[in-house]
Amino acid sequence: MGQLDEFRADTRAWLAENCPPGARGPGQVYNGSTKIEIHDPDVRLWVDRMVEKGWTVPNWPKEYGGGGLSTEEYLILLEEMRSISARPALSGFGTSMIGPTLLEFGTEEQKQTHLTRIARAEVEWCQGYSEPGSGSDLASLRTAAKLDGDSWVINGQKIWTSGAQHADWMFILVRTDPDASKHEGISFLLLPMDQDGVTIKPIRMISGESPFNETFFDDALADKGDLVGELNRGWTVGKRLLQHERSGMESLAAGGTGGGLSSVVTTAKKGYGEQDGKIAEPAIRENVLRYEMDSRSLGLTQRRVVEESLDGKTPGFTTSIFKVVSTELQQDYYELQTGLRGTDGYGWEGDQFEEDALGLTRNWLYYRAASIYSGSNEVQRNIIAKRVLGLPD
Ligand SMILES: Cc1cc2nc3c(=O)[nH]c(=O)nc-3n(C[C@H](O)[C@H](O)[C@H](O)COP(=O)(O)OP(=O)(O)OC[C@H]3O[C@@H](n4cnc5c(N)ncnc54)[C@H](O)[C@@H]3O)c2cc1C
Repeated sequence: MGQLDEFRADTRAWLAENCPPGARGPGQVYNGSTKIEIHDPDVRLWVDRMVEKGWTVPNWPKEYGGGGLSTEEYLILLEEMRSISARPALSGFGTSMIGPTLLEFGTEEQKQTHLTRIARAEVEWCQGYSEPGSGSDLASLRTAAKLDGDSWVINGQKIWTSGAQHADWMFILVRTDPDASKHEGISFLLLPMDQDGVTIKPIRMISGESPFNETFFDDALADKGDLVGELNRGWTVGKRLLQHERSGMESLAAGGTGGGLSSVVTTAKKGYGEQDGKIAEPAIRENVLRYEMDSRSLGLTQRRVVEESLDGKTPGFTTSIFKVVSTELQQDYYELQTGLRGTDGYGWEGDQFEEDALGLTRNWLYYRAASIYSGSNEVQRNIIAKRVLGLPD
């Protein structure tokens, strides 16, 4: 048996024994926040076991709490988890954004402090990028930081800060040289959220939830040592973080999401009948098939790109392609699901709607935001044109 086959067999056996029933199928995925409780003991157990194994962040180096897996081993782990519907033990801005960025740009001290806490599921992060008037034109941001002794003193405002209400730390882009050209006077800092200088105000979304916030800084403090990368060169660090964000690396490495196809087929058969094991209505079958083919094509393309990247790291500008296609597929998924359910697919409240139908409507509305967050899809198309296809400005 080859080394990878052996790894697969060991992994399968370990997962069978250690992944509790409550960590399989849909359910809570912990993000490490000290302000969120884990109610299901199986979820707690799963987090603890995966922390011990280093598999909350399977491909990070062992010295920072990771599993030290190669890209091939990581892919196998994800495939084996998927085969038993095991949820990831940990997910969030720590594992997917600031962690990989610190691995590339952090000092040894920053890695020892922050990466190990993320890996041990002890902290959740939020992202302080967008400001009123500085979204797509992010480099025009005005929140300012000045060094005073051993601290950065921060004043200004961020907006659309997802999860700020339960984040412990924020990574933030700030202006440190107001006289430099707009891309060159920006620095990248790490900031604790629980302090007097930080105020959070929730913003309600169309779905009725308030997953994001306005965040105000009045003499908020960050440690001098929590500057990531060089002073006034934060734009480079900040841009790289966005590539980690846009890659959707976990689903990417596993070969795409598969996009919940089986539930679409079930809904379609329920609504339109079944003939010889297939959806009875040809036009509906075609729509479902198109969705499936697009999902699989994305998955295969993502997987090829990961396998081709020699060091197994997040790819560069091609991540914009993944961002556009995967978010449009998410929207297609909810369009399909709601459309297939007829009027039941657009319920907001009332006893006549099933519980999952009400959740579906909210998700359908929520995912309208997917083509905006993480950089709008129009802007991603500009990046693809310029940086991937090499078209002129
Ligand atoms: C659900 C959600 C969560 C978010 N979470 C966070 C977060 O945690 N942290 C954070 O910092 N930000 C967050 N954001 C903000 C997000 O990054 C911005 O909304 C996004 O970058 C767009 O900026 P904007 O809203 O200011 O729109 P604008 O930049 O004002 O754009 C308005 C419209 O103009 C288009 N447009 C702008 N410039 C161009 C161009 N050059 N070419 C073509 N079209 C263009 C855009 O595509 C868009 O349709 C979140 C947003 C959403 C919706």
